[in-house]
Formats: sequence, structure tokens, C-alpha cells
Amino acid sequence: MKHFTGKAALLAFTLLPLAAFASHWSYDGSESPEHWSQLSDEYKTCQQGMNQSPINIDATLNAHLHPLDFHYGKGPDVVLNNGHTIQATVDPKTADSITLDGQNFVLQQFHFHAPSENTIHGKHAAMEMHLVHKNAAGEIAVVAVMFDVGAASPELDKLWSVMPSKAENEAKLKSSLDINKLIPEDRTYWRFSGSLTTPPCSEGVTWLVMKHPLTLSASQLEKFTHTMHHDNNRPVQPTHGRVVVE
Ligand SMILES: [Zn+2]
Repeated sequence: MKHFTGKAALLAFTLLPLAAFASHWSYDGSESPEHWSQLSDEYKTCQQGMNQSPINIDATLNAHLHPLDFHYGKGPDVVLNNGHTIQATVDPKTADSITLDGQNFVLQQFHFHAPSENTIHGKHAAMEMHLVHKNAAGEIAVVAVMFDVGAASPELDKLWSVMPSKAENEAKLKSSLDINKLIPEDRTYWRFSGSLTTPPCSEGVTWLVMKHPLTLSASQLEKFTHTMHHDNNRPVQPTHGRVVVE
């Protein structure tokens, strides 16, 4: 009897901490994007939301937006393989930021999806980078940069050369990375309202998709997809009448 109680106590001990963590999700099998909303009550927005990302950028409205205003300096120190993507983490104290609607949005991290998540006139780019920013109120603005296959990116190599091959591993960069070189020189962009493209798919995210792509080499793309083991893009979501401005 005592043995039985001990076992039950052990079971309770091992199950309880698990409940405190976010539910597992992925890009394939029973935890793939079409199942995200069923994996946790906290992921319901993935199914019920009306402003979900990514989207196909097609018809746009010309609002004469000024080119985006970047203030990037210090850059990241660390690159993380979190099992869903490769992420470069930026110390928010360094205040790499963008100015949007007169407000400062500070860069938190940037990461990659292959193929691209947003599509342009129905076409995927080979890869898409997401630079995730937050303002003082905690609102999120994501700058997206598309990459086509072409010339190798020396700046990406600073991340790729230390990219951890195993999930939940991180590594320090060996040479400093200039984030400005990961932004196209032409800073015109499309803007729309959307969501996080991963669970919990929270809405109210301002999306700023740079119109001009950069390039990476076929072997750089191969290294990323090999490390991720599979595509890591969420399929495009219905726009429900949302307008893309430029
Ligand atoms: Zn992303």
C-alpha cells in the first residue's frame, strides 16, 4: 500500500510541472498548423482569429508610406536553435529599434522560416527573416525580409557558422553581425495587421514586409533546412477583408 501511494505521488509530481508549460506544437504530423488550435485552449486564436498571419500579399492600397526608419547598431551575441527556428537573440538594452507611427519599437530577436511564410502574388521566397520588435506598451511589430536563392550572404554566415545543429542549444557569435546588412537598401514595404505565425497566434501584430528581397546561397538554404529537418512555415491564412497598404 505504501509503495502504491509513493508511485501515485511520483506520478502527480511528474505530471504537474508539465501542465505549467505551453503545449508542444510543430510543423508536421499530429501537431502541424491545422491542429494547433486543438493542442491547447490557449491556441484557440490560431483557428478563431480573423487577422491571422501569414497572408498572401496581392492587391494593395497606395498610402504613400515613407521608407521604414531603422536604428540598428549593436546586433545579437547569441544564436539559438529552439527546435522551431534558428533565432538570434538581441539584448533589448542595446535599443536596436525602428520608429513606427512616431513610436519606438525595440528589437527583441530575429529568426527564419523556409520557405517564406508570407507570399507575394502567390509565390514563396526561399526564406523569410522576422525581426520582432516591441514598444513600451508591449505591442509587437515584425519586419519581414525575403531571401531568394542567389549570392551567398556573408552576414548570414556569421549566424550559420555557429548555428547549433540540435534543438535547445545556443552558441555565441564569433564575429559581430551588422543587422543593417540584413535589411535591403530600398526600405519600401507593405504594411498590414496580423498575428504571431506560431502558437498562441496572438493578434494585434503590425506586419512590415520589405518589398525588396536579399539573397542567400543554395548551400546556406540547405544548411538551414537540413538543421530544421522540415519546412517551418505556417500556411497563408484568410485575409477576411484586411487591407495591405504600401
Ligand atoms: Zn517568424
